[in-house]
Amino acid sequence: MAPVEHLREQAPGARVHTVRLSDLTTLKVGGPAEVWEVEDAAGLAAATEEPYRVIGGGSNLLVSDDGVDERVVRLGRAYNDVRSYSGERDVWLGAATPLPGLVRRAQRAGMSGLEGLLGVPAVLGGAVAMNAGTRFGEMSDTLHEVELFVDGGLERVPAHSLDLSYRHATLPVGAIVTRARLRLTPSDPETVAATMAAVDAARAGQPKVKSAGCAFKNPHGDSAGRLIDAAGLKGMRRGDAMVALEHGNFILNLGSATATDVLELVSAVQVELSMVGADLELEWRLWGF
Ligand SMILES: Cc1cc2nc3c(=O)[nH]c(=O)nc-3n(C[C@H](O)[C@H](O)[C@H](O)COP(=O)(O)OP(=O)(O)OC[C@H]3O[C@@H](n4cnc5c(N)ncnc54)[C@H](O)[C@@H]3O)c2cc1C
Repeated sequence: MAPVEHLREQAPGARVHTVRLSDLTTLKVGGPAEVWEVEDAAGLAAATEEPYRVIGGGSNLLVSDDGVDERVVRLGRAYNDVRSYSGERDVWLGAATPLPGLVRRAQRAGMSGLEGLLGVPAVLGGAVAMNAGTRFGEMSDTLHEVELFVDGGLERVPAHSLDLSYRHATLPVGAIVTRARLRLTPSDPETVAATMAAVDAARAGQPKVKSAGCAFKNPHGDSAGRLIDAAGLKGMRRGDAMVALEHGNFILNLGSATATDVLELVSAVQVELSMVGADLELEWRLWGF
């Protein structure tokens, strides 16, 4: 992360910078925030002394052009275990571990369970918090136990206590996922690779332009993308924000979209869909609006 400005002496266990959140989100919009990049429990304790939010890979966030007033806690390198994963069946991994690298390492080691998450540009903590997934599998398939920083201390809770369901986890208020324990199933690299090829093929039609993935949750028994397509909204624009031509549930930043453009487009899509009797619930998390 390129620091814009050093705010203070490095706190124990944390580096503090003011950063535009457009630099930390895949949609590439969002104004400034004080980002606390933490490396240990002391850093977490210091960072959470004042109101805060938690950012992972920033791939499911729409952040206001004015940024956010709260501190933004980001887990640093000490919580990224992607290089140390070498094929264990039952493993604790740091919440800043990037999912794409982990999925590939598991495949090479002949471990099954994560392949359905291929192409999700999250880190482990964000994937737990959202119960990220595809029709090929989701985080809850392998998640066994979670370490949380909550109320100033660390505690471990079983995955079932998080009430994991479609794109949802119930975390205690203010909890930061610091580590997750996964249970994978021994398979062989070719079988896992074959599923990954199917996941990849299912994603082939998705846009490659800056986005935050699917904007809306799929309504029960239907697909938000299909509804948006049927309503003729592909290509709809506000400024440089556009409903993707390839996939109606992707809202793209064509280059210089602002958060206001994106939010106006989201609202316009919801209004159009409500007129044909469909209520679309946002999958993204909104910050600072
Ligand atoms: C191209 C693209 C494709 C995508 N495809 C999919 C897909 O197929 N399936 C899918 O489910 N999603 C998909 N997404 C959306 C996104 O990747 C997921 O929602 C993912 O789980 C977000 O993880 P993140 O680390 O980026 O979290 P962020 O976007 O940073 O945060 C999301 C939420 O999780 C919270 N959070 C993050 N880290 C922590 C933590 N350590 N502790 C507590 N709370 C935390 C944040 O506060 C926020 O509320 C896609 C996104 C993109 C850009």
